Amino acid sequence: MNRTKQPLSSLYIHIPFCAKKCDYCDFNSVVSESGIIDHYLHAVERELNVFEGKYSYDTVYIGGGTPTIVNENQIKTLLSIVNKHIKNKKAFEYTVEANPGTLTKNKMKLLRDYGVNRISVGIQSFQDDYLKFLGRIHSGAIATKCVELLVSEGFKNINVDLIFGYPGQTLDEWMQDLQRVVELKPEHISTYALTYEGETPLVKKARNGLVIKLDEDVELEMYQTAMRFLRENNYCHYEISNFAKPGYECSHNINYWNNKEYLGVGAGAYSFIDGERSMNERSVSHYIKGIEESTNVKVFRESLPLHTFASETIVMALRMMRGMSGKDFYDRFGYKIGEQFGAQISDLKRLGLLNDDDERLKLTEKGLFVADSVMAEFL
Ligand code: SF4
Repeated sequence: MNRTKQPLSSLYIHIPFCAKKCDYCDFNSVVSESGIIDHYLHAVERELNVFEGKYSYDTVYIGGGTPTIVNENQIKTLLSIVNKHIKNKKAFEYTVEANPGTLTKNKMKLLRDYGVNRISVGIQSFQDDYLKFLGRIHSGAIATKCVELLVSEGFKNINVDLIFGYPGQTLDEWMQDLQRVVELKPEHISTYALTYEGETPLVKKARNGLVIKLDEDVELEMYQTAMRFLRENNYCHYEISNFAKPGYECSHNINYWNNKEYLGVGAGAYSFIDGERSMNERSVSHYIKGIEESTNVKVFRESLPLHTFASETIVMALRMMRGMSGKDFYDRFGYKIGEQFGAQISDLKRLGLLNDDDERLKLTEKGLFVADSVMAEFL
């Protein structure tokens, strides 16, 4: 049997600080306190040094939180720390997530000069009422200006994140956001339905009847509208929530969806190395203390049995429009997909939710709209 090991090709660095916690946010992020960011960056450096020379990365992704909340000196420190570990300049994608309310022209210049070649901007909406509803720190006008400035500073690979499905939102309002984003011509657009997860202020408001969730049918119509409109505007729909101009698909995320191995550094970061998935201490202060004391901050580790890993690999691959290749599956796991999932595949094909016409298992358009239920059949 062929074990599932793939070369480690991605590095993720988590910067868990934000200017303010957004009302819908269930990510591992905290409002930054003065002084702690320097300690945190030092801890990140120590954690990364443990892996010095061990891996070569094709993609680096600095996410958060809000990586662009750090000041200019801290940006220099952070990128110098990360750049020491980058050897593989070939096919290299280097992304930093940005909040338009924290990304100044000087910070853009620094990011560019230190080799960052992709910026993912969390705009969410161009409409100030919805930005206020989310608790974002920026306006639609600032978000627009941010993308324009990034272009004028020479960034040629920009992603814009948008959210749809706000309580009371109309299809017309969503179309206005889609039109606005297309006018800005980013290379990549991600669209997500508003989610009610964790114990966020938004979830509490919904529980208390202060917020009425949008009807699911309207939300589905918004998703279909985005698919149609973005395709018409030459964005390729390559993953459930992601659209890109040809050649600008996000390699870092594709590595995740291919269930490949990666190293995650920072508070709450996940890693997947040598068949083992692990997670770092989530609390920023515990993470810093743990690194100072021992450099070992893992609070969770699991080695997945082969069949579980195979299931997860299919589920992740089905997120992508190109789906799962039967040959790749066989090469990785040493048996055919049908041996483990023959019954599920037949049922889902009969229901018109899956097809495997060209030796690849993928969601049909109908399957796309009930993707969660289809994927659940493989878990
Ligand atoms: S900026 Fe992003 S990470 Fe920070 S609180 Fe808002 S949604 Fe969460």
